[in-house]
Amino acid sequence: MAAALLCGLALTACERGPGYDADGPTRPHVVLVVIDTLRADHLGVYGYPRNTSPHIDALAARGVVFRRATSPSSWTRPAVGSLMTSLYPTEHAAVSAQHGLDPQVSTLAERFRAAGYRTIGVCGNFAHITDRAGFARGFDHWSSPKIVVDENNGDAIWAERNWWGVRHSLRALTGAELNREVFQRIPPARERPIFLYVHYMDPHSGYLPPSPYRERFLRDPEFDREQPAATSDWVRDTAAEKVAIGERGRERLLDLYDGEIASVDAAFGELMAHLEERGYPGNTVYAVVSDHGEEFAEHGGWFHGLTLYRESLAVPLVLFDSRADAVGATVDTPVDLLDLPTTLIALAGLRPDPRMRGRALGADGRSPAPRPLLAELHRDPLFEGGVRPRSHRWAFTRWPWKVIVHRAREGEFFRLDRDPGEREVLGVEDGAPAELFREGRTLIRKIVEPRRTDTFEALGPDAREALEALGYFRRGQTQGRAAD
Ligand SMILES: [Zn+2]
Repeated sequence: MAAALLCGLALTACERGPGYDADGPTRPHVVLVVIDTLRADHLGVYGYPRNTSPHIDALAARGVVFRRATSPSSWTRPAVGSLMTSLYPTEHAAVSAQHGLDPQVSTLAERFRAAGYRTIGVCGNFAHITDRAGFARGFDHWSSPKIVVDENNGDAIWAERNWWGVRHSLRALTGAELNREVFQRIPPARERPIFLYVHYMDPHSGYLPPSPYRERFLRDPEFDREQPAATSDWVRDTAAEKVAIGERGRERLLDLYDGEIASVDAAFGELMAHLEERGYPGNTVYAVVSDHGEEFAEHGGWFHGLTLYRESLAVPLVLFDSRADAVGATVDTPVDLLDLPTTLIALAGLRPDPRMRGRALGADGRSPAPRPLLAELHRDPLFEGGVRPRSHRWAFTRWPWKVIVHRAREGEFFRLDRDPGEREVLGVEDGAPAELFREGRTLIRKIVEPRRTDTFEALGPDAREALEALGYFRRGQTQGRAAD
Protein backbone atom coordinates (compact mmCIF):
# COMPACT_ATOMS: atom_id res chain seq x y z
CA MET A 1 0.00 0.00 0.00
CA ALA A 2 2.78 2.38 0.96
CA ALA A 3 4.59 1.66 -2.29
CA ALA A 4 1.39 2.20 -4.27
CA LEU A 5 0.81 5.49 -2.48
CA LEU A 6 4.34 6.63 -3.18
CA CYS A 7 3.92 5.71 -6.82
CA GLY A 8 0.72 7.72 -6.89
CA LEU A 9 2.52 10.75 -5.49
CA ALA A 10 5.63 10.44 -7.60
CA LEU A 11 4.55 8.44 -10.63
CA THR A 12 7.31 9.60 -12.92
CA ALA A 13 10.04 8.53 -10.54
CA CYS A 14 8.43 5.10 -10.14
CA GLU A 15 8.09 4.66 -13.88
CA ARG A 16 11.75 5.30 -14.35
CA GLY A 17 12.63 2.74 -11.72
CA PRO A 18 13.99 -0.63 -12.70
CA GLY A 19 10.50 -2.16 -12.97
CA TYR A 20 11.23 -5.12 -10.75
CA ASP A 21 11.90 -6.02 -7.13
CA ALA A 22 13.20 -9.04 -5.26
CA ASP A 23 10.06 -11.06 -6.09
CA GLY A 24 10.33 -10.42 -9.83
CA PRO A 25 8.92 -7.79 -12.18
CA THR A 26 6.34 -5.46 -10.68
CA ARG A 27 5.01 -4.58 -14.11
CA PRO A 28 3.68 -7.07 -16.67
CA HIS A 29 5.75 -8.28 -19.56
CA VAL A 30 4.34 -7.02 -22.86
CA VAL A 31 4.47 -9.18 -25.99
CA LEU A 32 3.44 -7.51 -29.26
CA VAL A 33 3.16 -9.87 -32.23
CA VAL A 34 2.68 -8.29 -35.66
CA ILE A 35 1.86 -10.61 -38.56
CA ASP A 36 2.44 -8.76 -41.82
CA THR A 37 -0.32 -8.73 -44.47
CA LEU A 38 -2.78 -10.78 -42.41
CA ARG A 39 -6.45 -10.26 -43.24
CA ALA A 40 -8.73 -10.49 -40.24
CA ASP A 41 -11.39 -12.41 -42.17
CA HIS A 42 -9.03 -15.34 -42.84
CA LEU A 43 -8.75 -16.29 -39.16
CA GLY A 44 -11.06 -18.77 -37.46
CA VAL A 45 -11.81 -16.36 -34.65
CA TYR A 46 -13.10 -13.86 -37.23
CA GLY A 47 -15.43 -16.45 -38.74
CA TYR A 48 -13.26 -18.01 -41.46
CA PRO A 49 -14.46 -21.57 -42.14
CA ARG A 50 -10.96 -22.99 -42.73
CA ASN A 51 -8.83 -23.97 -39.75
CA THR A 52 -6.01 -21.52 -40.50
CA SER A 53 -5.36 -20.19 -37.00
CA PRO A 54 -5.83 -22.61 -34.08
CA HIS A 55 -3.18 -20.95 -31.89
CA ILE A 56 -4.40 -17.38 -32.42
CA ASP A 57 -7.96 -18.62 -31.88
CA ALA A 58 -6.91 -20.22 -28.59
CA LEU A 59 -5.45 -16.93 -27.36
CA ALA A 60 -8.60 -15.12 -28.49
CA ALA A 61 -10.77 -17.58 -26.54
CA ARG A 62 -9.11 -16.33 -23.36
CA GLY A 63 -8.79 -12.67 -24.34
CA VAL A 64 -10.63 -9.98 -26.27
CA VAL A 65 -11.20 -9.88 -30.02
CA PHE A 66 -11.74 -6.48 -31.63
CA ARG A 67 -13.92 -7.43 -34.57
CA ARG A 68 -13.71 -4.10 -36.37
CA ALA A 69 -10.03 -3.22 -36.10
CA THR A 70 -8.49 -1.31 -39.00
CA SER A 71 -5.13 0.07 -40.03
CA PRO A 72 -4.47 3.78 -40.67
CA SER A 73 -2.76 2.80 -43.93
CA SER A 74 -2.60 -0.21 -46.24
CA TRP A 75 1.12 -0.90 -46.30
CA THR A 76 3.79 -1.62 -43.78
CA ARG A 77 5.80 1.49 -43.02
CA PRO A 78 3.04 4.04 -42.30
CA ALA A 79 0.95 1.39 -40.52
CA VAL A 80 3.72 0.16 -38.21
CA GLY A 81 4.72 3.79 -37.66
CA SER A 82 1.24 4.40 -36.23
CA LEU A 83 1.41 1.16 -34.25
CA MET A 84 4.62 2.37 -32.60
CA THR A 85 3.62 6.01 -31.98
CA SER A 86 -0.20 6.23 -31.74
CA LEU A 87 -0.03 8.99 -34.36
CA TYR A 88 -1.48 9.21 -37.86
CA PRO A 89 0.96 8.53 -40.72
CA THR A 90 1.11 12.21 -41.63
CA GLU A 91 2.09 13.01 -38.05
CA HIS A 92 4.86 10.42 -37.63
CA ALA A 93 6.00 11.12 -41.22
CA ALA A 94 6.95 7.55 -42.26
CA VAL A 95 4.66 7.79 -45.30
CA SER A 96 6.86 6.55 -48.14
CA ALA A 97 9.85 4.32 -48.79
CA GLN A 98 12.01 7.45 -48.51
CA HIS A 99 10.60 8.70 -45.24
CA GLY A 100 11.25 7.37 -41.76
CA LEU A 101 9.78 8.22 -38.39
CA ASP A 102 10.10 11.85 -37.42
CA PRO A 103 12.97 11.91 -34.87
CA GLN A 104 10.88 14.17 -32.65
CA VAL A 105 8.06 11.70 -32.06
CA SER A 106 8.38 9.23 -29.21
CA THR A 107 7.92 5.52 -29.73
CA LEU A 108 6.38 2.71 -27.73
CA ALA A 109 9.79 1.10 -27.17
CA GLU A 110 11.23 4.37 -25.85
CA ARG A 111 8.31 4.65 -23.45
CA PHE A 112 8.81 1.12 -22.12
CA ARG A 113 12.57 1.51 -21.85
CA ALA A 114 12.17 4.72 -19.86
CA ALA A 115 9.98 2.74 -17.45
CA GLY A 116 12.70 0.14 -16.80
CA TYR A 117 11.69 -2.45 -19.38
CA ARG A 118 14.15 -4.49 -21.39
CA THR A 119 13.03 -3.80 -24.97
CA ILE A 120 13.57 -6.43 -27.65
CA GLY A 121 12.60 -6.07 -31.31
CA VAL A 122 12.97 -8.88 -33.86
CA CYS A 123 11.43 -7.80 -37.14
CA GLY A 124 11.11 -9.93 -40.26
CA ASN A 125 10.21 -6.95 -42.47
CA PHE A 126 13.79 -5.92 -43.17
CA ALA A 127 12.73 -3.80 -46.17
CA HIS A 128 10.58 -1.19 -44.45
CA ILE A 129 10.83 -1.50 -40.67
CA THR A 130 14.48 -0.61 -40.38
CA ASP A 131 16.94 1.03 -38.05
CA ARG A 132 17.57 3.62 -40.77
CA ALA A 133 13.87 4.53 -40.87
CA GLY A 134 13.91 5.06 -37.10
CA PHE A 135 12.11 1.88 -36.03
CA ALA A 136 14.96 0.54 -33.87
CA ARG A 137 14.72 3.57 -31.61
CA GLY A 138 14.10 2.63 -27.97
CA PHE A 139 15.05 -1.05 -28.38
CA ASP A 140 17.87 -2.46 -26.22
CA HIS A 141 18.12 -5.23 -28.76
CA TRP A 142 17.06 -4.78 -32.38
CA SER A 143 17.45 -7.20 -35.25
CA SER A 144 15.77 -7.42 -38.65
CA PRO A 145 17.31 -10.58 -40.07
CA LYS A 146 17.11 -11.49 -43.75
CA ILE A 147 18.47 -14.22 -45.96
CA VAL A 148 20.50 -13.69 -49.12
CA VAL A 149 19.15 -15.91 -51.85
CA ASP A 150 19.68 -16.68 -55.51
CA GLU A 151 18.25 -14.08 -57.87
CA ASN A 152 15.68 -16.60 -59.07
CA ASN A 153 14.42 -17.48 -55.60
CA GLY A 154 10.67 -16.95 -55.62
CA ASP A 155 10.52 -15.78 -52.03
CA ALA A 156 12.85 -12.83 -52.62
CA ILE A 157 11.04 -9.58 -51.81
CA TRP A 158 13.85 -7.07 -52.04
CA ALA A 159 17.20 -6.46 -53.71
CA GLU A 160 20.12 -4.40 -52.51
CA ARG A 161 23.72 -3.74 -53.53
CA ASN A 162 26.59 -4.45 -51.22
CA TRP A 163 29.78 -2.43 -50.80
CA TRP A 164 31.23 -3.94 -53.96
CA GLY A 165 28.19 -3.13 -56.06
CA VAL A 166 27.03 -6.74 -56.22
CA ARG A 167 23.24 -7.00 -56.27
CA HIS A 168 21.76 -9.33 -53.69
CA SER A 169 18.28 -10.79 -53.68
CA LEU A 170 16.88 -11.07 -50.19
CA ARG A 171 14.03 -12.95 -48.64
CA ALA A 172 12.32 -12.63 -45.27
CA LEU A 173 12.66 -15.38 -42.69
CA THR A 174 9.78 -17.79 -42.18
CA GLY A 175 8.06 -17.66 -38.82
CA ALA A 176 9.90 -20.79 -37.68
CA GLU A 177 13.23 -19.26 -38.71
CA LEU A 178 12.45 -15.95 -37.04
CA ASN A 179 11.55 -17.77 -33.82
CA ARG A 180 15.11 -19.10 -33.52
CA GLU A 181 16.36 -15.50 -33.45
CA VAL A 182 13.61 -14.47 -31.00
CA PHE A 183 14.27 -17.34 -28.59
CA GLN A 184 17.93 -16.37 -28.29
CA ARG A 185 16.94 -12.88 -27.19
CA ILE A 186 14.38 -13.66 -24.50
CA PRO A 187 15.83 -13.30 -20.99
CA PRO A 188 14.59 -15.28 -17.96
CA ALA A 189 11.17 -14.08 -16.83
CA ARG A 190 12.37 -13.13 -13.37
CA GLU A 191 14.66 -10.43 -14.68
CA ARG A 192 13.36 -7.01 -15.72
CA PRO A 193 9.96 -6.86 -17.42
CA ILE A 194 10.31 -7.13 -21.18
CA PHE A 195 8.65 -5.42 -24.10
CA LEU A 196 8.98 -7.95 -26.92
CA TYR A 197 8.05 -6.97 -30.50
CA VAL A 198 8.04 -9.86 -32.97
CA HIS A 199 7.12 -9.14 -36.61
CA TYR A 200 6.39 -12.21 -38.77
CA MET A 201 6.28 -12.01 -42.55
CA ASP A 202 4.80 -15.30 -43.81
CA PRO A 203 1.46 -14.11 -45.33
CA HIS A 204 3.27 -11.42 -47.34
CA SER A 205 3.72 -12.39 -51.00
CA GLY A 206 5.12 -14.57 -52.50
CA TYR A 207 2.61 -17.15 -51.42
CA LEU A 208 5.11 -19.97 -51.04
CA PRO A 209 4.42 -21.64 -47.70
CA PRO A 210 6.63 -24.56 -46.68
CA SER A 211 5.19 -28.09 -46.68
CA PRO A 212 2.89 -29.30 -45.26
CA TYR A 213 1.19 -25.88 -45.25
CA ARG A 214 1.70 -25.43 -48.97
CA GLU A 215 -0.58 -28.35 -49.79
CA ARG A 216 -3.00 -28.01 -46.88
CA PHE A 217 -5.70 -25.88 -48.51
CA LEU A 218 -5.09 -26.47 -52.22
CA ARG A 219 -8.42 -27.21 -53.90
CA ASP A 220 -6.78 -28.41 -57.10
CA PRO A 221 -3.14 -29.57 -56.78
CA GLU A 222 -3.06 -30.50 -60.48
CA PHE A 223 -4.06 -26.98 -61.51
CA ASP A 224 -1.52 -25.56 -59.06
CA ARG A 225 1.28 -27.53 -60.73
CA GLU A 226 0.40 -26.01 -64.10
CA GLN A 227 0.53 -22.45 -62.79
CA PRO A 228 3.54 -20.16 -62.32
CA ALA A 229 4.90 -20.04 -58.79
CA ALA A 230 3.17 -17.28 -56.80
CA THR A 231 6.43 -15.43 -56.19
CA SER A 232 6.58 -11.90 -54.91
CA ASP A 233 7.54 -10.59 -58.38
CA TRP A 234 4.67 -12.49 -59.95
CA VAL A 235 2.16 -11.10 -57.45
CA ARG A 236 3.50 -7.58 -58.04
CA ASP A 237 3.15 -8.01 -61.79
CA THR A 238 -0.38 -9.20 -61.21
CA ALA A 239 -1.04 -6.18 -59.04
CA ALA A 240 0.21 -3.95 -61.84
CA GLU A 241 -2.48 -5.63 -64.00
CA LYS A 242 -0.05 -7.30 -66.32
CA VAL A 243 -1.37 -10.79 -65.60
CA ALA A 244 -4.90 -12.16 -65.94
CA ILE A 245 -5.87 -14.54 -63.14
CA GLY A 246 -9.41 -15.87 -63.53
CA GLU A 247 -11.55 -17.34 -60.74
CA ARG A 248 -9.63 -20.62 -60.47
CA GLY A 249 -6.38 -18.73 -60.29
CA ARG A 250 -7.82 -16.49 -57.60
CA GLU A 251 -8.94 -19.50 -55.57
CA ARG A 252 -5.48 -21.01 -55.86
CA LEU A 253 -3.83 -17.83 -54.57
CA LEU A 254 -6.23 -17.76 -51.63
CA ASP A 255 -5.39 -21.42 -50.90
CA LEU A 256 -1.67 -20.65 -50.84
CA TYR A 257 -2.22 -17.47 -48.77
CA ASP A 258 -4.20 -19.54 -46.25
CA GLY A 259 -1.30 -22.00 -46.12
CA GLU A 260 1.00 -19.10 -45.18
CA ILE A 261 -1.40 -18.13 -42.39
CA ALA A 262 -1.46 -21.69 -41.02
CA SER A 263 2.34 -21.70 -41.17
CA VAL A 264 2.73 -18.44 -39.23
CA ASP A 265 0.03 -19.51 -36.77
CA ALA A 266 2.14 -22.59 -36.00
CA ALA A 267 5.15 -20.32 -35.42
CA PHE A 268 3.04 -18.15 -33.13
CA GLY A 269 2.04 -21.30 -31.19
CA GLU A 270 5.71 -22.19 -30.87
CA LEU A 271 6.46 -18.70 -29.52
CA MET A 272 3.68 -19.01 -26.93
CA ALA A 273 4.95 -22.45 -25.86
CA HIS A 274 8.47 -21.11 -25.55
CA LEU A 275 7.36 -18.18 -23.40
CA GLU A 276 5.46 -20.60 -21.18
CA GLU A 277 8.53 -22.80 -20.77
CA ARG A 278 10.51 -19.73 -19.80
CA GLY A 279 8.00 -18.77 -17.10
CA TYR A 280 6.28 -15.81 -18.74
CA PRO A 281 2.54 -16.53 -18.87
CA GLY A 282 1.57 -15.54 -15.33
CA ASN A 283 2.27 -11.84 -15.72
CA THR A 284 2.16 -10.98 -19.39
CA VAL A 285 0.06 -8.85 -21.71
CA TYR A 286 -0.20 -10.24 -25.25
CA ALA A 287 -1.34 -8.42 -28.38
CA VAL A 288 -1.60 -10.04 -31.82
CA VAL A 289 -2.23 -7.73 -34.74
CA SER A 290 -1.45 -7.16 -38.41
CA ASP A 291 -0.22 -4.05 -40.18
CA HIS A 292 -2.70 -4.26 -43.10
CA GLY A 293 -4.66 -6.72 -45.21
CA GLU A 294 -4.29 -7.99 -48.77
CA GLU A 295 -6.41 -7.62 -51.90
CA PHE A 296 -7.69 -10.64 -53.81
CA ALA A 297 -9.58 -8.77 -56.53
CA GLU A 298 -12.52 -7.77 -54.31
CA HIS A 299 -12.29 -4.36 -56.01
CA GLY A 300 -10.32 -5.61 -59.01
CA GLY A 301 -6.82 -5.33 -57.56
CA TRP A 302 -4.15 -7.43 -55.84
CA PHE A 303 -1.41 -6.98 -53.26
CA HIS A 304 -1.66 -4.11 -50.76
CA GLY A 305 -0.78 -0.44 -50.38
CA LEU A 306 -2.92 0.51 -53.36
CA THR A 307 -6.40 1.14 -52.01
CA LEU A 308 -8.19 1.90 -48.75
CA TYR A 309 -11.02 -0.62 -49.07
CA ARG A 310 -11.84 -3.06 -46.29
CA GLU A 311 -9.70 -5.92 -47.63
CA SER A 312 -6.63 -3.67 -47.37
CA LEU A 313 -7.41 -2.14 -43.97
CA ALA A 314 -9.28 -4.69 -41.82
CA VAL A 315 -6.79 -6.36 -39.46
CA PRO A 316 -7.05 -8.81 -36.58
CA LEU A 317 -6.54 -7.43 -33.08
CA VAL A 318 -6.49 -9.86 -30.16
CA LEU A 319 -5.60 -8.75 -26.65
CA PHE A 320 -4.97 -10.99 -23.65
CA ASP A 321 -3.89 -9.99 -20.14
CA SER A 322 -2.79 -13.14 -18.31
CA ARG A 323 -3.10 -11.45 -14.91
CA ALA A 324 -6.89 -11.58 -15.23
CA ASP A 325 -9.26 -14.51 -15.65
CA ALA A 326 -10.11 -15.62 -19.17
CA VAL A 327 -12.53 -13.20 -20.78
CA GLY A 328 -13.41 -14.61 -24.21
CA ALA A 329 -15.15 -11.41 -25.29
CA THR A 330 -15.65 -9.60 -28.58
CA VAL A 331 -15.83 -5.84 -29.09
CA ASP A 332 -17.69 -4.40 -32.09
CA THR A 333 -16.77 -0.74 -31.63
CA PRO A 334 -14.40 0.23 -34.48
CA VAL A 335 -10.81 0.67 -33.29
CA ASP A 336 -7.53 1.18 -35.12
CA LEU A 337 -3.81 0.57 -34.68
CA LEU A 338 -3.36 3.97 -33.00
CA ASP A 339 -5.29 2.56 -30.04
CA LEU A 340 -2.82 -0.23 -29.39
CA PRO A 341 0.23 1.68 -28.05
CA THR A 342 -2.01 3.60 -25.65
CA THR A 343 -3.59 0.32 -24.57
CA LEU A 344 -0.31 -1.49 -23.91
CA ILE A 345 1.08 1.46 -21.94
CA ALA A 346 -2.08 1.65 -19.84
CA LEU A 347 -2.10 -2.11 -19.16
CA ALA A 348 1.50 -1.81 -17.96
CA GLY A 349 0.36 0.85 -15.51
CA LEU A 350 2.23 3.65 -17.28
CA ARG A 351 0.93 7.04 -18.24
CA PRO A 352 0.35 7.62 -21.97
CA ASP A 353 2.04 10.51 -23.71
CA PRO A 354 -0.66 13.19 -24.07
CA ARG A 355 0.25 13.56 -27.75
CA MET A 356 -0.89 10.01 -28.46
CA ARG A 357 -4.10 9.91 -30.47
CA GLY A 358 -5.35 6.46 -29.50
CA ARG A 359 -7.66 5.34 -26.71
CA ALA A 360 -6.69 2.86 -24.01
CA LEU A 361 -8.73 -0.25 -24.83
CA GLY A 362 -9.67 -2.61 -22.02
CA ALA A 363 -8.46 -6.20 -21.89
CA ASP A 364 -11.73 -7.03 -20.14
CA GLY A 365 -14.09 -6.79 -23.11
CA ARG A 366 -15.68 -3.45 -22.36
CA SER A 367 -16.38 -1.25 -25.37
CA PRO A 368 -14.40 1.95 -25.79
CA ALA A 369 -16.07 5.26 -26.55
CA PRO A 370 -16.48 5.63 -30.33
CA ARG A 371 -14.11 7.86 -32.23
CA PRO A 372 -13.75 8.54 -35.98
CA LEU A 373 -10.97 6.69 -37.82
CA LEU A 374 -8.71 8.09 -40.52
CA ALA A 375 -6.61 6.11 -43.01
CA GLU A 376 -4.07 7.59 -45.39
CA LEU A 377 -2.14 6.48 -48.47
CA HIS A 378 0.57 8.65 -49.97
CA ARG A 379 2.03 8.65 -53.42
CA ASP A 380 5.43 7.02 -53.36
CA PRO A 381 7.88 8.19 -56.03
CA LEU A 382 10.21 5.25 -55.42
CA PHE A 383 7.56 2.90 -56.71
CA GLU A 384 6.60 5.03 -59.70
CA GLY A 385 5.40 2.74 -62.47
CA GLY A 386 5.22 -0.16 -60.03
CA VAL A 387 2.49 -1.09 -57.61
CA ARG A 388 2.30 1.95 -55.37
CA PRO A 389 -0.57 4.42 -55.86
CA ARG A 390 -0.06 7.26 -58.28
CA SER A 391 -1.91 9.72 -56.08
CA HIS A 392 -2.63 10.46 -52.45
CA ARG A 393 -5.89 9.38 -50.90
CA TRP A 394 -7.59 9.13 -47.54
CA ALA A 395 -10.53 7.37 -45.90
CA PHE A 396 -12.61 8.54 -42.97
CA THR A 397 -14.95 6.33 -40.96
CA ARG A 398 -17.61 7.39 -38.51
CA TRP A 399 -19.60 4.25 -37.95
CA PRO A 400 -21.61 3.16 -39.87
CA TRP A 401 -20.42 5.49 -42.65
CA LYS A 402 -17.09 5.54 -44.46
CA VAL A 403 -15.89 7.86 -47.20
CA ILE A 404 -12.85 7.24 -49.42
CA VAL A 405 -11.45 10.28 -51.21
CA HIS A 406 -9.24 9.75 -54.27
CA ARG A 407 -8.07 12.36 -56.75
CA ALA A 408 -11.42 14.03 -57.10
CA ARG A 409 -12.94 16.30 -54.53
CA GLU A 410 -15.90 13.98 -54.12
CA GLY A 411 -15.84 10.82 -52.06
CA GLU A 412 -17.06 7.24 -52.38
CA PHE A 413 -19.43 6.62 -49.49
CA PHE A 414 -20.16 3.20 -47.98
CA ARG A 415 -22.61 2.15 -45.30
CA LEU A 416 -20.60 -0.46 -43.39
CA ASP A 417 -23.36 -2.03 -41.28
CA ARG A 418 -25.33 -2.98 -44.41
CA ASP A 419 -22.42 -3.42 -46.79
CA PRO A 420 -19.31 -4.58 -44.88
CA GLY A 421 -17.52 -5.53 -48.11
CA GLU A 422 -17.83 -1.95 -49.44
CA ARG A 423 -19.32 -3.07 -52.73
CA GLU A 424 -22.04 -0.45 -53.18
CA VAL A 425 -20.83 3.10 -53.69
CA LEU A 426 -23.33 5.56 -52.28
CA GLY A 427 -23.71 9.28 -52.71
CA VAL A 428 -25.37 12.10 -50.83
CA GLU A 429 -28.54 11.39 -52.81
CA ASP A 430 -28.59 7.93 -51.13
CA GLY A 431 -28.51 9.46 -47.66
CA ALA A 432 -24.71 9.53 -47.28
CA PRO A 433 -23.79 12.32 -44.86
CA ALA A 434 -21.98 15.09 -46.73
CA GLU A 435 -20.63 16.36 -43.42
CA LEU A 436 -18.51 13.19 -43.17
CA PHE A 437 -16.42 14.43 -46.08
CA ARG A 438 -15.96 17.83 -44.43
CA GLU A 439 -15.23 16.27 -41.05
CA GLY A 440 -12.52 14.05 -42.53
CA ARG A 441 -11.00 16.96 -44.39
CA THR A 442 -10.97 19.09 -41.23
CA LEU A 443 -9.22 16.30 -39.31
CA ILE A 444 -6.45 15.82 -41.86
CA ARG A 445 -5.91 19.57 -42.05
CA LYS A 446 -5.49 19.61 -38.30
CA ILE A 447 -2.84 16.90 -38.30
CA VAL A 448 -0.66 18.65 -40.87
CA GLU A 449 1.66 20.78 -38.80
CA PRO A 450 4.14 23.21 -40.39
CA ARG A 451 7.11 20.89 -40.08
CA ARG A 452 5.28 18.15 -41.91
CA THR A 453 4.97 20.17 -45.11
CA ASP A 454 8.66 19.55 -45.81
CA THR A 455 7.85 15.87 -45.89
CA PHE A 456 5.18 16.37 -48.51
CA GLU A 457 7.24 18.71 -50.66
CA ALA A 458 9.85 15.96 -50.83
CA LEU A 459 7.33 13.54 -52.23
CA GLY A 460 7.49 15.12 -55.67
CA PRO A 461 6.52 18.13 -57.79
CA ASP A 462 2.85 17.27 -58.19
CA ALA A 463 2.36 16.07 -54.62
CA ARG A 464 1.29 19.47 -53.33
CA GLU A 465 -1.42 19.79 -55.95
CA ALA A 466 -2.72 16.32 -55.13
CA LEU A 467 -2.65 17.06 -51.41
CA GLU A 468 -4.51 20.32 -51.94
CA ALA A 469 -7.20 18.44 -53.83
CA LEU A 470 -7.54 16.06 -50.89
CA GLY A 471 -7.82 18.87 -48.39
CA TYR A 472 -4.42 18.65 -46.75
CA PHE A 473 -3.92 22.35 -47.40
CA ARG A 474 -6.22 25.22 -48.03
CA ARG A 475 -6.00 26.37 -51.61
CA GLY A 476 -3.61 29.29 -51.88
CA GLN A 477 -2.23 28.67 -48.41
CA THR A 478 1.33 29.82 -47.91
CA GLN A 479 3.70 26.89 -48.03
CA GLY A 480 4.72 25.68 -44.61
CA ARG A 481 1.76 27.00 -42.64
CA ALA A 482 -0.68 24.83 -40.80
CA ALA A 483 -4.12 24.67 -42.38
CA ASP A 484 -6.25 24.93 -39.26
ZN1 LIG B 1 3.14 -5.03 -44.25
